[in-house]
Amino acid sequence: MREAPPAGNPRSLYDLEPADLARLAAEAGEPCYRARQLARQLDRRKLADLDAMTDLPASFRGFLAERLAGAGLTLERHQVGDDGWTHKFLFGLGGGDSVESVLMFYPPSGAPEDWEGGRQGRATLCISTQAGCAMGCTFCATGQFGFTRNLSAGEVVEQVARVWSLLEELRPAPGAPDHLTNVVFMGMGEPFANPAGTWGAAWRLHQGFGLSARAITISTVGLVPGIDRAAREGLAVNLAVSIHAGTDEVRDRLVPLNHSWPVADLLAAVRRYVAATRRRVSFEYALIRGVNDGADQAEALGRLLAPLRVPSSGGHAAHVNLIPYNPTPGLPLEGPSKRGIQRFRELVAAHGLPVSVRANRGVGIDAACGQLRTTAGRPGRSLRPSLATGRRAAG
Ligand code: SAH
Ligand code: SF4
Repeated sequence: MREAPPAGNPRSLYDLEPADLARLAAEAGEPCYRARQLARQLDRRKLADLDAMTDLPASFRGFLAERLAGAGLTLERHQVGDDGWTHKFLFGLGGGDSVESVLMFYPPSGAPEDWEGGRQGRATLCISTQAGCAMGCTFCATGQFGFTRNLSAGEVVEQVARVWSLLEELRPAPGAPDHLTNVVFMGMGEPFANPAGTWGAAWRLHQGFGLSARAITISTVGLVPGIDRAAREGLAVNLAVSIHAGTDEVRDRLVPLNHSWPVADLLAAVRRYVAATRRRVSFEYALIRGVNDGADQAEALGRLLAPLRVPSSGGHAAHVNLIPYNPTPGLPLEGPSKRGIQRFRELVAAHGLPVSVRANRGVGIDAACGQLRTTAGRPGRSLRPSLATGRRAAG
């Protein structure tokens, strides 16, 4: 097990602020431009490993390695699914926990149904904000593991940096992007239960990595104070709300947090958010056969969300994103049939709401976003041990 950094030391190089970099350069007896050089390596070049920063003097790198011992993530496992279009990474954290990130490539759109790829194609990374999750949603693999700890903002950013620097090597086709086009906070953990890690990372990705705010999506299970903070934050990221039901009765069974923040309170917070930001909100709905896929839930959802409007344009403020449930070992749940999904979609769309169905990705490697697990899972169709610095997946 990897040691945690000593108390007071950063968990990741990405937790260092410009002032910290300047102080470290001074302590090492280096000229102050070295601090700016280091910042460039971290943000512009997305280099998370000191060894790779070959334009810094070896003596300075050695000094930093000693001072920052135990910081950073190690890539422990890398699994490939969907013929190279989906990649799952397991990152070890200092102190022994691990989190997962999932990379999904989308080809440039050709057919109209390829809307996900857009004209340029996309490379979307799904990142984790916590080791485990305390919210205990009854259908979610992460929720079953309980909560270990919050990630620091730097540990969240470092997932992005480490995958970004592998991207060129991982591209499944020449047309696929060689940089990340989107980052979604939809991996392990509840982002708004870790506001420092989440917002610290979102700002760094925007200001340091140059991702536009609109390329960043934060998904919440419905923590009302977190939604209110998002309304005030001044960074126009996309907000996704995991609703999963149209009534409290069904949502109570899926999302224990609904007992504290029931649907009416959640919707009131979303209304405040839309009023403050004039932005649309995406509502995630994991469709589970026989649990929340009935006509009654579709009708209730439609009635609930159709009145949400963007004040300036009067257009719908809610976009519904249906996610066919990804079976999770140990949980006796499954997604609806194709027809069931279609029926649900039509019933919601009949309320005038925009509805999309998210394609299931990485099913063979348990890598669908939101189904990230820390157990030694089944490997995908192929494995690239060359990229993993640690243990290979068994099997
Ligand atoms: N905690 C946040 C973000 C992480 S979960 C949240 O709950 O929104 C990301 C999304 O994946 C959520 O909408 C979650 O409900 C969904 N999800 C979790 N397990 C899933 C599964 N097995 N199949 C489909 N979606 C799932
Ligand atoms: Fe946590 Fe989201 Fe899973 Fe619920 S669905 S347990 S909030 S990660």
